[in-house]
Amino acid sequence: MLIDLCELSPSYVRTIAPYQPGKPISEVARELGLKEEHIIKLASNENPLGIGPRTRAAIDAALGEISRYPDGSGFELKQALSGRYGVDQASIVLGNGSNDVLELVAAAFLGPGRAAVISQHAFAVYPLATQARGARLIMVPAKSYGHDLEAMARAVDDETYVVWVANPNNPTGTLARPDELEAFLRKVPERVLVVLDEAYNEYIHADLRADPVKWLKRHPNLVVTRTFSKAYGLAGLRVGYALAHPSVADVMNRVRQPFNVNSLGLAAATAALDDMEFVARSYAVNLSGMRQLEEGARALGLAYIPSHGNFLAIHVGKAPEIFKRLLRRGVIVRPVSGYGLPEHLRVTIGTAEENDRFLAALAASIKD
Ligand code: PMP
Repeated sequence: MLIDLCELSPSYVRTIAPYQPGKPISEVARELGLKEEHIIKLASNENPLGIGPRTRAAIDAALGEISRYPDGSGFELKQALSGRYGVDQASIVLGNGSNDVLELVAAAFLGPGRAAVISQHAFAVYPLATQARGARLIMVPAKSYGHDLEAMARAVDDETYVVWVANPNNPTGTLARPDELEAFLRKVPERVLVVLDEAYNEYIHADLRADPVKWLKRHPNLVVTRTFSKAYGLAGLRVGYALAHPSVADVMNRVRQPFNVNSLGLAAATAALDDMEFVARSYAVNLSGMRQLEEGARALGLAYIPSHGNFLAIHVGKAPEIFKRLLRRGVIVRPVSGYGLPEHLRVTIGTAEENDRFLAALAASIKD
């Protein structure tokens, strides 16, 4: 072949560094010759409780209709969300995970000659979605690992159409207070969209949690994104959504695939939204697990970034080596060097038993 077919894609696509997902259990078992049942995965911020019984029943019921296309408008889920948040259905955009919704923002509002502002250490999908559209990235240095919202507002230039804000951020777990977010929204010009990604919203302590839905009226440039992948336990079914001004939602829906959310996902998410008992249990298990890992890290003399999510970034020093040693002990965590954190490992809060296993494996891996 005389040409490199890769060269046919625009240079802004070719230069994208692919997203590094957490290693699947089956892959680690294959590579290291371990039994799958001896491996624990604390690498993708999944819910260690699985799903609630009502959600499972809704999935079972929806299986009968699987040969049909899903409801492309997602009416029932939108109706449930509309009731929960007191917003019109026209303000809701559903996605194949909230990742899809972030991509829809980029597809609808970014392109060559445009720019997006992000924070250092921010969630990897923002640069990916921005770059894939040929837009320019404006990266703002973090402050104590978190978003420096004042500097981000100042970084907005004439070409900026989107500012990405993760609250809490992954992988740092850092959180901006509601008053800081409000001050930020007042500073950003109305012609610039502020995407407030609240994938981990349900894990935030009630006293620190913002209520951005009530800001939507005052700030029509605000886009709030949430997911069923974390506290609702539906990561594998891929359902997320955005709440936004109807005009913003309208353009996002125009670039959306007609059937972007699958039928099992729609049914499961609609049922899961009502299962507040499951979400409360997920919160409680996460809180005690977070304390367990914090204490464990302190006992090992390791620093960590205080986190408001369902994960903790621990400073382990030689992260690539410790990561490999943990793998050999059947514990999968996530290296975060791609996020500018080469000496940290991010561990998802698991069940008490999983957390114990991780801490024991970490103690041994540091000594090796
Ligand atoms: N936002 C943040 C900050 C995340 O960490 C994640 C998942 N890793 C997502 C969005 C996307 O999750 P999903 O597509 O499963 O909703």
